[in-house]
Amino acid sequence: MNVIPCGSVATIAAPEKYFTGRVLQTPIIENDEPSRLRAVMVGFEPGARTAWHTHPLGQTLYVVSGAGRAQSWGLPIVELKAGDVVSFAPGEKHWHGAGPTTAMAHIAMHEALKGVHVDWMEKVDDEQFGA
Ligand code: MN
Repeated sequence: MNVIPCGSVATIAAPEKYFTGRVLQTPIIENDEPSRLRAVMVGFEPGARTAWHTHPLGQTLYVVSGAGRAQSWGLPIVELKAGDVVSFAPGEKHWHGAGPTTAMAHIAMHEALKGVHVDWMEKVDDEQFGA
């Protein structure tokens, strides 16, 4: 058993290259190969969101607090709230983030394929976000 005490892992600002707005990431688990699971607590300030991206083996989000939104390419925006669970299929192009006026935090869970957890694409502009 291994206990990682709360406060012992640094929270970092998500890279501007792949996110719009202020986004904070706190790692939960990321073990060496052959383990593939990665889980990250992600907090989005109002208006903040990921860029468009895919995950080679899909992804599940658990919304911990607040209200936000997500969208898959070519489909309508879906509103999310605390307690919701969202899954994306392998290769499904999508984004996720806060609402225009509400913060949102989720736990993101995804597995690596050949060391890759995510493939980043273009940013979600204000029109796409629906701000
Ligand atoms: Mn994702």
